[in-house]
Amino acid sequence: MPVLRDLDGLAAAGLVPGGVTPALRAVADRYAIAITPAMAELIDPADPDDPITRQFVPTEAEGVQLPQEQPDPIGDTSHSPVPGIVHRYPDRVLLKLLHACPVYCRFCFRREMVGPGGDALSGEALATALAYIRQHPAIWEVILTGGDPLMLSPRRLAEVIAALGEIDHLGLVRLHTRVPVVEPERVSDALVAALRGAKATWLLLHTNHPRELTSAAAAAIGRLVDGGIPVLSQSVLLRGVNDTPETLSSLMRRLVELRVKPHYLHQGDLAPGTAQFRVPIAEGQALVAGLRGHLSGLCQPTYLLDLPGGHGKVPLAAAAVQPDGDGWLATDWQGGVHRYRDNTPATA
Ligand SMILES: *Cc1c(COP(=O)(O)O)cnc(C)c1O
Ligand code: SF4
Repeated sequence: MPVLRDLDGLAAAGLVPGGVTPALRAVADRYAIAITPAMAELIDPADPDDPITRQFVPTEAEGVQLPQEQPDPIGDTSHSPVPGIVHRYPDRVLLKLLHACPVYCRFCFRREMVGPGGDALSGEALATALAYIRQHPAIWEVILTGGDPLMLSPRRLAEVIAALGEIDHLGLVRLHTRVPVVEPERVSDALVAALRGAKATWLLLHTNHPRELTSAAAAAIGRLVDGGIPVLSQSVLLRGVNDTPETLSSLMRRLVELRVKPHYLHQGDLAPGTAQFRVPIAEGQALVAGLRGHLSGLCQPTYLLDLPGGHGKVPLAAAAVQPDGDGWLATDWQGGVHRYRDNTPATA
């Protein structure tokens, strides 16, 4: 089965039950489509609420843009000193090597920037980006993202990892990827070898539903971890995909069973045409509060909002402690409230 890349392909595979309407064509003309065989196989076409369909099959709802939704919802462009680099925090930069992804998620925060059309960073632009990193000794970490860096060939990846390995002030290289889940066969031994360099390589896996963690995905993750690459996960809280305690719990537990530490649970960004995916923050707070205590601490991700305008990430979990007189009131995982005195001397 090939990668499905357009509406007609999706329709032929029986994945567009409402038919190809002009409104849907307009959506497909604006935002890229791709569904890998590994993901297409998981779809139950008879289920109108299938969580895999919801993530990858376009709908007419994407044509509706709210006023607060922005083409660059987290302000990447305003923090880009040279092409390919986003430098928002002092100690780390994003390095976007390419625009292509193995799948195109309908809720993507970079949906206006990713797609098969855009080419990889040219050799010259990459040289400029590497020079920028070399010239800024405060940069400790380079995050390869994009686009999905594991779409590059092992040879190209090894070249970039080697170039980064020669920059003394770098401590590590991090990759943000969806490949081990959506196209696990791409995680070959050669690819794992390409990731190992002079600096530690850490991998952040984007995955949103436990059904994505198939036996092939588990094997790909196993090759990475066995190959010495620490793997963490990030998920987006998505209406109709993972917005229940049961789904979130089984996703996080399955990840930990596969030796992946759940790291971030993102609030959906204000990308154009994605309102149908966003869960209100108050509901998200209740969901993550409900995981505490019931699930191993290893399974707890940090719930996070990336502020519009490039102001960075802020934790969203509701505070479990409140100041109270000369001490604190702490709410436990079962809702019990307790007074706590730390060792600050009481003010006279
Ligand atoms: C998200 C992001 C990072 C990484 O932040 P962490 O909290 O370290 O995961 C770095 N730079 C930019 C521009 C980002 O958007
Ligand atoms: S893999 Fe990441 S960058 Fe690519 S479409 Fe999905 S969310 Fe966007």
